[in-house]
Amino acid sequence: MSILPRRFERIKNVLNCRMENLTVLVEAVNKPHNLSAILRTCDAAGVFEANFICKRDEVKTFNSTAQGSQKWVKLNNHETTISAVSHLKKKGFKLYGTTLNDSSTDYRNFDYAENTCFVLGAEKWGLSDELISKVDESIFIPMTGMVQSLNVSVAASILLFEAIRQRQIKSLLPLNGEGLSQKEYQKTLFEWSYPELASIYKKSGNKYPTLNQDGEINEVIKKQ
Ligand code: SAM
Repeated sequence: MSILPRRFERIKNVLNCRMENLTVLVEAVNKPHNLSAILRTCDAAGVFEANFICKRDEVKTFNSTAQGSQKWVKLNNHETTISAVSHLKKKGFKLYGTTLNDSSTDYRNFDYAENTCFVLGAEKWGLSDELISKVDESIFIPMTGMVQSLNVSVAASILLFEAIRQRQIKSLLPLNGEGLSQKEYQKTLFEWSYPELASIYKKSGNKYPTLNQDGEINEVIKKQ
């Protein structure tokens, strides 16, 4: 069974704007509505993959606030702070830790056009000291109210859309899939278009078939 042309077009339009070089690292945020809201913002901003520090056996849960965005943003779970940081550094990300202390800098003073990861902390305690010591810069969003901090998902939205604003000014927002490697683009296009089939292929260890322009699966030619 083939995907409907309109659905395929929509999937391509979204994938064409996804960026591998903008992400978040979320530490110890556990409330489903906050996780869901962060993910929904990632989807809206064009984030391809979101990172979480998630202990073994801990399952992140999302609720209706996510509006299904967990299907469209890749979730990358790291068991430890060290593994998360080394994964992101290897990929060339600059880590911007959100901290509300005196040594933190106003978030508007930085350029987020290149590989950017915003690091967000737990609802009650904020970022751990371990993670604070590993980030490249500490940033805060200035506030003038009686309450000391923003909701974590609100902070994520402000920061991600500042990155989008800056990239738009520099004409750096992808429109035709330039934000992803060709390999990742084709793989994700298949997974989003044919999710059930994709999991069957994954289990069997076989490569995904290619798709034609209309999203139909090209016939797999078996070698004799
Ligand atoms: N008492 C905690 C602290 O000092 O960090 C407050 C945590 S706050 C409710 C949860 C998370 O939201 C923070 O770790 C940070 O990621 C984000 N956040 C909240 N307000 C922020 C602000 N004004 N600037 C930057 N990030 C903020």
